[in-house]
Amino acid sequence: MNEDSKTLRIVPVMVPMPAERPYSYSVPEGMEVEPGSIVRVPLGPREVAGIVWDTPTDRVDPKKLRPISQVFDCPPIDEASRRFVDWVANWTLAAPGMVARMFLRAPAAFDPEPPMEGIRWAGSEPDRMTDARRRVLELARDGMAWTRSGIARAAGVSPTVVNGLAEQGLFDSVDIPAPPVVAAPDPDYAQPSLSPDQQAAADSLIEKIGAGFSTTLLDGVTGSGKTEVYLEAIAEAVRRGKQVLVLVPEIALTAAFLERFHDRFGARPAEWHSDLAPRTRERVWRQVAEGRVRVVAGARSSLFLPFRDLGLIVVDEEHDPAYKQEDRVYYSARDMAVVRGHLGKFPVVLASATPSVETQVNALQGRYSRVVLPTRFASAAMPDLRAIDMRKSPPARGGFLSPALLEEVARTIERKEQALLFLNRRGYAPLTLCRVCGHRFQCPDCSSWLVEHRFRGKLVCHQCGHNENRPEACPSCGTLDHLVACGPGVERIAEEIDRHFPDARTIVLSSDMGGVKRLRLEFEAVANGEADIVVGTQLVAKGHNFRNMTLVGVIDADIGLANGDPRAAERTFQLLNQVTGRAGRTGKRSLGLIQTYQPHHPVMRALVSGDAKAFYEQEIAAREREHLPPFGRLAALVVSAATRAEAEAHARALRRAAPEVSDIAILGPAEAPLAVIAGRHRFRLLVHGERKSDIQSYLRKLLADAPKERGSVRVQVDVDPQSFL
Ligand code: ADP
Ligand code: ZN
Repeated sequence: MNEDSKTLRIVPVMVPMPAERPYSYSVPEGMEVEPGSIVRVPLGPREVAGIVWDTPTDRVDPKKLRPISQVFDCPPIDEASRRFVDWVANWTLAAPGMVARMFLRAPAAFDPEPPMEGIRWAGSEPDRMTDARRRVLELARDGMAWTRSGIARAAGVSPTVVNGLAEQGLFDSVDIPAPPVVAAPDPDYAQPSLSPDQQAAADSLIEKIGAGFSTTLLDGVTGSGKTEVYLEAIAEAVRRGKQVLVLVPEIALTAAFLERFHDRFGARPAEWHSDLAPRTRERVWRQVAEGRVRVVAGARSSLFLPFRDLGLIVVDEEHDPAYKQEDRVYYSARDMAVVRGHLGKFPVVLASATPSVETQVNALQGRYSRVVLPTRFASAAMPDLRAIDMRKSPPARGGFLSPALLEEVARTIERKEQALLFLNRRGYAPLTLCRVCGHRFQCPDCSSWLVEHRFRGKLVCHQCGHNENRPEACPSCGTLDHLVACGPGVERIAEEIDRHFPDARTIVLSSDMGGVKRLRLEFEAVANGEADIVVGTQLVAKGHNFRNMTLVGVIDADIGLANGDPRAAERTFQLLNQVTGRAGRTGKRSLGLIQTYQPHHPVMRALVSGDAKAFYEQEIAAREREHLPPFGRLAALVVSAATRAEAEAHARALRRAAPEVSDIAILGPAEAPLAVIAGRHRFRLLVHGERKSDIQSYLRKLLADAPKERGSVRVQVDVDPQSFL
């Protein structure tokens, strides 16, 4: 690294900026840095935290070279993590600095946690003994360190007693290391008794721990015990002293998983997600870096925690679209987990009842191993699934629930069991219009209708969050009281349910009903039987075991099918399978009713027949025919700008800059289906290549030859896009 003729040491530092490469800095005399060290460096007029890199440094005029200001007292970011940054940046075309930035999201944790102030008995006696003082000293005499409040509580005395003794010089003050955020998991805390199928599955996962890189699909119907099985793989990794990461799609809601983990290991995993209190966040980050936290359960961003000895990643519900980040760095946490395993030479487990087509193909072609759990655990049977043909059994005027579904709800609550009605639409109604002039309420900044949230009395844009009060008069024609709500959201379904079942306890569960804490309480209440009927969005589809839930009704199974997304059928199948899988998890006879206007659609047929195999075969064949992922490759370029003209002009310029190659085509530009979001006009281009095409090089060349982003124009590159809106 040292190429300068003088004894000046120069190192590259990755700064958290859209920089394409690390910048060079000099290392002041007496300062020790190594690759991975977290340092503070000057950058323009500011100072930022960066990571010392290990690539060759650029030649810089020594006069312009600035010194590193500080090395943090923090374990370095390890080699595998640094290669991970390079890899993710190279794959997604994000600037490496922006990927490195994801490792630096808890700046207060770069300094060690301050120790707690403690006291230790110094060996002398107080001037006068009281009963309270005696109790304190009995504890203190063993010479261990205590906090003042800790020993006071343990002795059952007030803190003034301890303070009084301290004033007499009875204690030395000592530092007590900051306590762990979570206790250490004990892999032998509670041994499960697995069924023979489960044991075989667990054994094949355990075999992979410590045996280098591998990817295994853990494929089992909802309720077959996938969690039970991968907990055993985690136990093995923990036994071998490795750190473990469990990725879950909706961490904020998986209280049940944390409990199960606790039951198995006698301690909870550390959690990592955007809703953590800042202080907790910092402590988790720091203790992961120090290796004190052994197991993390987290959202996709936990891939960028500074693990020092990661030995296993489990991706639960691997098909879940929530694993795709569509902000700054566009990456798939599922795919990047596999990359991380490869770089760190450890196994990755992908668990799902309805694997993504990509993962299915990888398993079929032998790149991933497959471990199957064919049946539900013990006596729990899969719910009996039926389609309700809405053309033949239509709802009453103004309603959305067919008589057949209402009848089953009535039976279910009569048996004192629970029913879940699923509709993937928040709020009361997706569209409001004026019956007199036809005016539709649209977001002023987006090309989307405002969704009525009657509970809050607002009209809300689900794209940008814009909200306004619902007026009484039409803003266009001024007529009073002639606004109508069109279509259903969960609030409206709950209202319909209330009309039919006024005595039932009905609860609405959706992400805008409150924060994480509130939602966790509500889920607990449902699990404890405090509700008869739950009306919920996709939040309720994930990971909950409601013991008494025996009916699941899908209000509108067709909702996701007609949106021009190549994965529409797959997604609908996965979501509906998952949500109907909430029923009958403990052995009671259970039913799933699917309201649809297309009962013969392949998705509905696959759900009702339970023949997932045929469905996947069809999907895979169609993807192969059309060279769609994983048989071909896609990347999207989304151009946005303050005006439509600017966005379109730049999108056309990108198109003109597209290289001529035989195996990659470029489609568009076309105005995006969501043409305007938050005041920005959007155009899309789609790059379509063969499986082996080097789409990244193609995109780099295109972007290099195209005009630079100017004025309000922004170009977002999305490799392996999941969204086409
Ligand atoms: P999946 O992750 O495949 O949906 P789970 O692991 O959540 O399945 O198991 C479904 C339910 O069955 C859970 O309530 C779980 O506690 C229970 N279960 C599964 N396997 C066992 C087992 N071997 N012993 C006891 N309970 C089990
Ligand atoms: Zn909006």
